[in-house]
Amino acid sequence: MESFDVVVVGAGPAGSAAGIAATRAGARVLVLDRARFPRAKTCGDAISNRAADLVADLVRSRDPLVGVPHAQVDTGVAIFPGGASIVRGFGEHPGFIVPRLALDDLLRRALQEQGSSLREATAVRSLVREGDRIVGVRTENTTIRAGAVISADGPGSVAWTTLGIPYHRDRRLAVALTVYMKDVRPGPHQAANEHFFEEGLKAGYGWIFPPVEGVANIGVYQRADRFHAHGRTLRQLFDAFVARHPERFDGASIVGRTRSWALPLATLPGPGGMAGLLMAGDAGRYVDPLAGEGIWQALHSGKLAGESAAQALGGAGLQRKAVDAYRRRCAIDIGVPSMARMAVQDAMDLVVATGLHRSAWVRAVLGHGYGSERLEASKRLR
Ligand SMILES: Cc1cc2nc3c(=O)[nH]c(=O)nc-3n(C[C@H](O)[C@H](O)[C@H](O)COP(=O)(O)OP(=O)(O)OC[C@H]3O[C@@H](n4cnc5c(N)ncnc54)[C@H](O)[C@@H]3O)c2cc1C
Repeated sequence: MESFDVVVVGAGPAGSAAGIAATRAGARVLVLDRARFPRAKTCGDAISNRAADLVADLVRSRDPLVGVPHAQVDTGVAIFPGGASIVRGFGEHPGFIVPRLALDDLLRRALQEQGSSLREATAVRSLVREGDRIVGVRTENTTIRAGAVISADGPGSVAWTTLGIPYHRDRRLAVALTVYMKDVRPGPHQAANEHFFEEGLKAGYGWIFPPVEGVANIGVYQRADRFHAHGRTLRQLFDAFVARHPERFDGASIVGRTRSWALPLATLPGPGGMAGLLMAGDAGRYVDPLAGEGIWQALHSGKLAGESAAQALGGAGLQRKAVDAYRRRCAIDIGVPSMARMAVQDAMDLVVATGLHRSAWVRAVLGHGYGSERLEASKRLR
């Protein structure tokens, strides 16, 4: 039977970060992904400035995102009905739009260059459990033993099945639909990620992001409790969003197909844990509820998971204590600010429903929750 120090399930941002961090700390690492790279991922493609910093650290290059298809993002704007807005700048630290086909392949290359083994087109079917610890993974053809398993395989992770974690479809989940569009008319702000908070999208928003090579990423996002309450489809929400903004979408057309997927939100307490197993990225439920941002969270939790797994080498394997320490660190860095931002999201709803967004004073107060560094841990602001 094959055996590795660390086996990582999934080679998205969380899995690549985990593999790189564990390899750097001296572990023998195997990463398994059911896809073949380069592969697309349903996403808005927005990478915050702190996520861009982490990518640079992981791929050991100063400005790696400038070398792949990208748009620079200097500003974030929350836009309310009637056009009132909250604007925050990223100063000397721009964010980026990078299609996930390019971002994830960049990380995948770094993973292999830095010494992890990667097996593509290999789906993990289940985790191997012995008593109260995880000791390996099963694929269709083989069982692989590991001192630590890092589950970075997104929503519906094999770790959820093994630990009996339900697929919550309430405040702990969001859903989103994205399309690429050409000929979207520019808005009033240059190089801006625009989030439209509107009556028809409670606990959610529509987005227009700057175009990359002439094609813009557009979509709608909504928390699952609100989504299931109205019974309309994501496509209907998207069509209504486009129809509300003829000033941006008249003459624009869809390129390719619409894609939708789920986002497990960071709430406290997060999913349980078990000795031998760390869950990172979407598998750990670390998406920011207000922005729907999960790439920084995936990179950050993945890197922490890789470091924690490697620290356990040589001893009695990854103990429950180390698993809990990792979960605590993720709760502090991601869970706590996310819970506060979910409260901001509920406040946004109330403000839009009552028309209070027309007051500059209310927007100034909301601005602290929507765009303060303390709550939005993934971004550096001007
Ligand atoms: C429509 C939409 C828009 C979004 N927009 C943004 C955005 O603009 N900015 C942002 O920061 N975040 C955004 N997100 C969230 C972001 O996409 C995720 O949080 C992020 O991709 C999580 O990374 P991950 O590595 O945890 O998971 P993933 O990127 O999903 O990677 C998981 C990997 O695991 C593999 N895998 C799955 N199951 C198995 C298995 N059984 N065996 C082997 N391999 C497996 C998959 O093939 C995949 O490669 C968006 C999400 C959606 C749905």
